[in-house]
Amino acid sequence: MTHADRPSLPPLRVAIIGSGPSAFYAADFLQRKATFDLEIDMFERLPTPYGLVRGGVAPDHPKIKSVTRAYERTASDPRMRFFGNVEFGRDIRHIDLIRHYHAIIYAVGAQTDRRLGIPGEDLPGSHAATEFVGWYNGHPDYCDLSFDLTQESAVVVGNGNVAMDVARILARTYEELHTTDIAPHALEALRESRIKKIYVLGRRGPAQASFTNPEIKELAELEGADVIVPPEDAKLDTLSRRYVRQADRATARNVEIIAEYSRRQPTGKPRQIIMRFLVSPVEILGTERVEAVRVVKNKLCKSADGTLRPRPTDETEVIPAGLVFRSIGYHGVALPDVPFDEVMGVIPNVEGRVIEPDGTFRTGEYVVGWIKRGPTGIIGSNKPDALETVERLLEDASAGRLLHPPQPSRAGVEELLARRQIRVVTFEDWRRIDAIERERGAAVGRERVKFTHVEDMLAALADPRREPTPS
Ligand code: NAP
Repeated sequence: MTHADRPSLPPLRVAIIGSGPSAFYAADFLQRKATFDLEIDMFERLPTPYGLVRGGVAPDHPKIKSVTRAYERTASDPRMRFFGNVEFGRDIRHIDLIRHYHAIIYAVGAQTDRRLGIPGEDLPGSHAATEFVGWYNGHPDYCDLSFDLTQESAVVVGNGNVAMDVARILARTYEELHTTDIAPHALEALRESRIKKIYVLGRRGPAQASFTNPEIKELAELEGADVIVPPEDAKLDTLSRRYVRQADRATARNVEIIAEYSRRQPTGKPRQIIMRFLVSPVEILGTERVEAVRVVKNKLCKSADGTLRPRPTDETEVIPAGLVFRSIGYHGVALPDVPFDEVMGVIPNVEGRVIEPDGTFRTGEYVVGWIKRGPTGIIGSNKPDALETVERLLEDASAGRLLHPPQPSRAGVEELLARRQIRVVTFEDWRRIDAIERERGAAVGRERVKFTHVEDMLAALADPRREPTPS
């Protein structure tokens, strides 16, 4: 007997691990498509939901963050509960979930960065862009880091949208940042920044850059920084010219924008973003800390799969810089008791169904988002991704291929977490944190002033002087 042919069976219970966009789209599709009674419990290790929408999207991109209004509607559905401040593998384990749920969806994203693998990478002053992004967004894991912004030059390695975010935030003026929800510590530190030159290094050419048109265009709109592209770096080689003729409009537009930048003269703004192409860092130089980056000039060659790959030449150059931000992509992290592909940094799966190393399916376990497909795509890419997984889950529910939990009750998990003395942060609690942050922001003319430490969020919730805000 399955849930699909007997809707009167006890509700189908689904645990979702993580609360970023892919988690919310999975919950939304479950709510809309299930033809039987359903209970969704979403577990999040932080007290705050929304994953990279809160901790990754740049503070000067508030429109992108408005997707959370849809997530709030999903969270308001009576079939869904939010368990914030509950970490998978520590507060709740795999073995607990299979006792309480018919299905588990992993939506944990890609938690770490890829490494360059070059000498000097660990010198003080060399940072993963993911750390800087977490820091300026007030993510509790990164808020106590410090970045030496007394340096005059910084290098950002990579040509993706994260590299654009990092370069832009380094270049923005205090006035531009003040109205955003950037973390208070980052706002103050960036106010004192002495950085004048921000080099952005692409290992391939403008035609192969992975930043998108609005992000590259936005660099030219900064109040306090000129964009500079050396004309010889903007020039396309024969292979790239041929490639652009066949490529999509967005690629051609990136090339046009870069070419236009290369024809501009600096206007004398206090900062410069200098975009270099066809260069790869080969060594980060310095004795006590980062002092410079040695780069090698590349040329493009056609690889076996037809893509144009960078090949080093004999020509090298040293770029003086006291800070390096490695922005060459995110990488997933293994979860305890869950299969993992170390090379790809994903949970191995077929259309969202988790598979074991021997290729067999893991009953009742699913995956969505970056931990399913790798760290690519924009927020909206998670919709079709989550839909595919939910359709497979519902097919399995119809075929009776889910887990058979011995304790499938709503109260069971609450009791378990209470026994373990976990201070669960509910969605109502989150609404209070949200309201307090907005109030703190309104008081100083800012969008919100974020809490950056978990203890402070929990203390605010425990503070009897703070009246719960009606939802
Ligand atoms: P990404 O788009 O994959 O870009 C990674 C960049 O690093 C590429 O330019 C890549 O060059 C380069 N790279 C990789 N290995 C390298 C190496 N060893 N040396 C030098 N360069 C290297 O990744 P991302 O910027 O982290 O962004 C992740 C995803 O989030 C993307 O889909 C992005 O669009 C999205 N995102 C969107 C926004 C937005 O919509 N505003 C903002 C932030 C992030 P190759 O191409 O040569 O490999």
